[in-house]
Amino acid sequence: MLAASEVAREHEHLIRRSAERARYQMTPEEEDLAARLRPSGAGGWSKLHGNVSSQLRGEFRGESLPVTALRALATDPDEGVRRDAYEAELKVWEGAEVVLAAALNGVKGEEGTLAARRGFPDAVAPSLLTHGIDRETLEAMQGAVVRSFPDFRRYFAAKARALGKPKLDWWDLFAPVGRSQTEWTYEAGTRFVEEQFRSYSDKLGDYAARAFTESWIDAGPRDGKRGGAFCMGWQGDESRILMNHDPSLDSVSTLAHELGHGYHNLLKAPRTPLQRETPMTLAETASIFCETIIQNAALEQATGEERLYVLETQLLGHAQVVVDIHSRFLFERAVFEGRAQRDLTPQEINDLMTWAQRETYGDALASTHPYMWAVKPHYYSLSFYNYPYTFGLLFGLGLYAQYQAAKERGEAADFQRSYDELLSGTGLADARTLAAGFGIDLHAPDFWEGSLNVIREQIAAYEAALA
Ligand SMILES: [Zn+2]
Repeated sequence: MLAASEVAREHEHLIRRSAERARYQMTPEEEDLAARLRPSGAGGWSKLHGNVSSQLRGEFRGESLPVTALRALATDPDEGVRRDAYEAELKVWEGAEVVLAAALNGVKGEEGTLAARRGFPDAVAPSLLTHGIDRETLEAMQGAVVRSFPDFRRYFAAKARALGKPKLDWWDLFAPVGRSQTEWTYEAGTRFVEEQFRSYSDKLGDYAARAFTESWIDAGPRDGKRGGAFCMGWQGDESRILMNHDPSLDSVSTLAHELGHGYHNLLKAPRTPLQRETPMTLAETASIFCETIIQNAALEQATGEERLYVLETQLLGHAQVVVDIHSRFLFERAVFEGRAQRDLTPQEINDLMTWAQRETYGDALASTHPYMWAVKPHYYSLSFYNYPYTFGLLFGLGLYAQYQAAKERGEAADFQRSYDELLSGTGLADARTLAAGFGIDLHAPDFWEGSLNVIREQIAAYEAALA
């Protein structure tokens, strides 16, 4: 087929992926039945989780608040507020645990049964196909991740000292440390982003300028607008971005992140729609890279309390993506194993969540959050919608480290050319092949260690800034 058709050859990667997926299929009748039962099975359970959890409210100091507002208090500078909000939040989840546990059992029961009937060796296997990496890559990455936990525990210990406590509690994970002297208004953010993107390349700087002058970005929060941030491809090489700016470096980082997605869309624009399909593991490369440009520039300019603030912004995010996400992976895998035997009770699910948090945070925390399985919508949709974030962060950081090395050798332009080619080709080959173009072996621990070393340096700087 590939020899006979030019169009087929242009879509070779996609065809090979489809052929690989086709090896894991039930009979056509069984696939048909499974698809028809989806809305009343896992699809229905997932919807129930969304609908129930979005209505939940809790009591905070005599006031009724949506559970999302309770969770947002985790960033309050006052520990009493954070602790009371955490306790109120746990009560809310406890009140809904029977319904939410039924939803989790429903989703994981169906996914696990289908994976086994389709001939996958375990519940992780289908996610590897979806996310476009092989098991050796996942294991090399996770091995390096686990080896970094002692370093992250040093960060948690340092943060506890900064907050004047012997040990961090769960409600302190998002507590602010340091102070920003810069007023990160949206306008200041756009100027900073354009300037720093331009210090990387004119092409990236011009891209940001174009997004600003052509008003591609819906920037501020307003009534009736949803939260969060995302970027979507629009016509031609254009993109549109939704975000909710608040005056913080974190928000400016988000702006850079979403523009990174847009830049990726720009480079994929000449490809056919099928050639643009990018697995989630590679979809976050450009966004993390752009975020790193901004955060490193902010760090270079910062002194004193501001420096601490920038480092805290970086490390708080990295701890989520490296440590917390690994707890979510361990938990999800254990739920699949347990659910294969029978329905799990809310208490059993809580115990698995607590176990997974202890395995990853270790003794760095004095308390855990047994109901995180009720909080995160990811457990109720695509399986293992977690480790691709870690891959994205570490792959983006690793490429950034390569860029810095190339710049020192006076070869920045060569790097930029290869990097643009990689982004343009994220639908043309798998991650391992694309990485090999940079001399990177995703099966070797070295690459992952290199990315984690970037974070280790930030942890050391954070400790030094607090000393
Ligand atoms: Zn993103």
